[in-house]
Amino acid sequence: MTTPADVEAQSPTSMSPTTKAEVLIEALPWIQRFRDKVVVVKYGGNAMVDPDLARTFAEDVVLMHSVGIRPVVVHGGGPQIGELMDRLGKKTEFRDGLRVTDAETLDIARMVLVGKVNRDIVASINVHGPLSVGLSGEDAGLILASARNPDLGFVGDVEAVNPAIVDRLLAEGLIPVISTIGADLAGQAYNINADTVAGAIAVAVGAEKIVYLTDIEGLRRNVDDEASLIRRATAAELQALLDDGTIAGGMIPKVAACVHAADHGVGSAHMIDGRIPHVLLLEIFTNRGIGTMVTRDPVLDPTTEDQP
Ligand code: ADP
Ligand code: MG
Repeated sequence: MTTPADVEAQSPTSMSPTTKAEVLIEALPWIQRFRDKVVVVKYGGNAMVDPDLARTFAEDVVLMHSVGIRPVVVHGGGPQIGELMDRLGKKTEFRDGLRVTDAETLDIARMVLVGKVNRDIVASINVHGPLSVGLSGEDAGLILASARNPDLGFVGDVEAVNPAIVDRLLAEGLIPVISTIGADLAGQAYNINADTVAGAIAVAVGAEKIVYLTDIEGLRRNVDDEASLIRRATAAELQALLDDGTIAGGMIPKVAACVHAADHGVGSAHMIDGRIPHVLLLEIFTNRGIGTMVTRDPVLDPTTEDQP
């Protein structure tokens, strides 16, 4: 006769069947809460270059999709662009501390983002079924761009987002994976910061949530002090930190995009640690708060804030 203890002993992982059931049940209210909702995920940093993390990322996106959430992936690729630039012996020119994107650099960025990074993400998702379609912001007029500053060459800002192609792919049950190259009205391509694009797309598609996977556990009040992690903030509080210079470097476009998203109808924006396997599942399906969460208004009741 098989006893419950035998079943526990045969469990393929250290977790008991009861614990597994509890884990699944903990996810239930979150699954119900996010069913049919769009969740934009900005994928970048270490999570993108480590093959094991790339695999668990794809699993998480497919699991979200399988329970009725509509994920949209927006990806970066700065390190991969830098790597090919080095291999080609192409020097980066800086003007007043900002990287100049000449026509050749733009070509390299576009080849790497659209031709390599995007393909790799789409392929890793499609291991699980014919689910994902890759596109560039140039496709179907998705991202209308303009030059940020003529001295910087083809570095663009988002002028407008036309989400029609994303809406159509979502309506077909597909998972869009977006490279952040935009085009102006004359068809000239521009490289645009992926954090900025992710926020603009989340607003345009009416996303419920935007999640930034990055290479640090979240936003810190002092970048050198791990203990200064900001767990929750309102858009106005973060705007103040942007204005007073607390936030530096790669966090600037992320925080600015979280503020923009929260102020324009996206329910919450999150910056979480992409170095943790399955961090996306932890963020979406568990009661544990992770990384930094940004909302427009203060979360009123701290005892119920982790309930769906
Ligand atoms: P990603 O690939 O996710 O865009 P970035 O390097 O562009 O990564 O941005 C994340 C980095 O921003 C962190 O690794 C950290 O070094 C830097 N950073 C600057 N200010 C802060 C801050 N206040 N809190 C956390 N990280 C910060
Ligand atoms: Mg960055």
